[in-house]
Amino acid sequence: VIEMGTPTKSVVTTCAYCGVGCSFKAEMRGDELVRMTPYKHGKANRGHSCVKGRFAYGYAKHKDRILNPMIRDSVDQPWKEVSWDEALTFAATKMRGLQEKYGQKSIGVITSSRCTNEETYLVQKLTRAVFGNNNTDTCARVCHSPTGYGLGQTFGTSAGTQDFDSVEETDCAMIIGANPTDGHPVFASRLKKRIRQGAKLIVVDPRRTDMVKSNHIQADHHLPLRPGTNVAVVTAMAHVIVTENLIDQSYVRTRCDWDEYLAYADFVSDPRHSPEATELLTGVPAEDLRAAARLYATVGKSSIYYGLGVTEHSQGSTTVIAIANLAMLTGNVGINGAGVNPLRGQNNVQGSCDMGSFPHELPGYRHVKNADVREVFENAWGVPIDPEPGLRIPNMLDAAVEGTFKGLYCQGEDILQSDPDTKHVAAGLAAMECVIVHDLFLNETANYAHVFLPGSSFLEKDGTFTNAERRINRVRKVMAPPNGYADWEITQMLANAMGANWTYTHPSQIMDEIAATTPSFANVSYEALEEKGSIQWPCNDAHPEGTPLMHVDGFVRGKGRLIVTEYVATDEKTGPRFPLLLTTGRILSQYNVGAQTRRTENSVWHDQDVLEIHPHDAELRGVKDGDWIKLASRSGETSLRAQITDRVSTGVVYTTFHHPDTQANVITTDFSDWATNCPEYKVTAVQVSLSNGP
Ligand code: SF4
Repeated sequence: VIEMGTPTKSVVTTCAYCGVGCSFKAEMRGDELVRMTPYKHGKANRGHSCVKGRFAYGYAKHKDRILNPMIRDSVDQPWKEVSWDEALTFAATKMRGLQEKYGQKSIGVITSSRCTNEETYLVQKLTRAVFGNNNTDTCARVCHSPTGYGLGQTFGTSAGTQDFDSVEETDCAMIIGANPTDGHPVFASRLKKRIRQGAKLIVVDPRRTDMVKSNHIQADHHLPLRPGTNVAVVTAMAHVIVTENLIDQSYVRTRCDWDEYLAYADFVSDPRHSPEATELLTGVPAEDLRAAARLYATVGKSSIYYGLGVTEHSQGSTTVIAIANLAMLTGNVGINGAGVNPLRGQNNVQGSCDMGSFPHELPGYRHVKNADVREVFENAWGVPIDPEPGLRIPNMLDAAVEGTFKGLYCQGEDILQSDPDTKHVAAGLAAMECVIVHDLFLNETANYAHVFLPGSSFLEKDGTFTNAERRINRVRKVMAPPNGYADWEITQMLANAMGANWTYTHPSQIMDEIAATTPSFANVSYEALEEKGSIQWPCNDAHPEGTPLMHVDGFVRGKGRLIVTEYVATDEKTGPRFPLLLTTGRILSQYNVGAQTRRTENSVWHDQDVLEIHPHDAELRGVKDGDWIKLASRSGETSLRAQITDRVSTGVVYTTFHHPDTQANVITTDFSDWATNCPEYKVTAVQVSLSNGP
């Protein structure tokens, strides 16, 4: 007798939320998913999970899901349901028509770090081989693009250097601009366990997160810096390490460019980078800065874990470089238990970047200007590749407003909700003549769309995701896609409607093409993934079993580069009208703008975003706990309820951005990272005043 709800089969797959990449058994009864059980052989999670992976999968069956393609001639018309053939012909005709009228570079693509590696590879191939340009970008633009630049410049490739297991070897963890308890919970548990065993902990964060102090752990040092001053703090730590001669001399001499080191040492030794001078800029007491630097440099093996509190700044790339400098100075890269690790927010940020979804890079972080690399893909695809880098997301929107960018294929990304300066995004979308939205739900961006292609959820397709430790995990089809097709098939159908002749019948063939064209994936295949369970790239003849630890014998680029990191204050200034600094983050039970988690059982744990404000700042404004307040910036305003707490310092307020009503991006500015255009989401000058609610 089989009881109601008793599973009759299970399929091992990978969580589609954060970059930890937990493995789950999707347990089925017939065609119904009964539960998601953490998989004990999953190498990233070893049987553990958080509430999102375990409970927040119901969105796949939510009534809001769109299952049929839809088209309309203009955005003021109602949607018309049509067949897949009609929708794809309509989209292809419009996009080709725009290219004929406005030029080959008048259209482009935005893809999502939620998609599989195979889907992402196909989308950038569509752009390069079918559209004939490099106008392909990814939502990693607005999160970890500075990681790509910073780690590329210093180490030679954009990836975390350690595996999660090696946290068990670390003597000191420094967490900067990340809140793993909420953002990367399963990894946070492993980290906390190591701290309880005696490893030291430094937390650099404007807010007193759970990593600073909780029932189980207490950080040795919390550096509660003023938002926007990361570069000054990390450079001051380097000042202490260099001036107190705490550097690893033999490591720097043998592993790094020595002449660059000398110039860098000269730079950081300047008294203007001293802890005392830095205290004035950052608000962090000089003695704490000094003590944290000494601890990091001398305790043994030190690991740095960082998140969007590092990257989403006007100096995001500079901070990534500063962090890499710190690790190289102290010999903390390329040994077990030490390293530099971007904690990737979305499940496949790493893979999305690996797969060439930036407008200047082909798969494997190789520049489109490199003729030898282009030749590899030209031979594989049978078409010439444009050597000029394409447009980034903000450039696409600017060009749309200016009238030169006319058509967009937007896969799995709600740019109207997720990108900064909502008014500008809306103006760009409104100026386009063909917007194709490919998603599960009619998101906010779809208000400006002419074609809607219903997407498939992670439960309905085969593929791979790559987690924050470069681990390629299999995603396995658990049920048939109710929209009829997996996303990779939809991209292939669009390509073929535009004149291509792609004939993939399974994502494993796409992975074979990735392996044939991308050296760091050369030995990756679905057969190898079945055999090994998962693989950390690079995996090739030099590293046939994959690579848990990078840069062991030398950096990918050869000698590591210590690059000068001059602190430049953001242009976003406080003043009498906007005297407080707003910074943002996440909570455990929700995910980004909540498109998935708000349509699942997780919604019961979080019904609104709130504004955290220090008791002193609240009292000054007559704000009491739970009051409605107006949050206003130079860009716009919104309403939230206040939560009075000393987790934030005076002068700093904090909110999450999980609910559309919050409209956090109405508030944020259009300042961005100097190197990559990653938006400066983490620093906005605001005013808070009592209000009557929305
Ligand atoms: Fe999913 Fe991340 Fe939670 Fe693991 S820690 S279950 S990958 S959301």
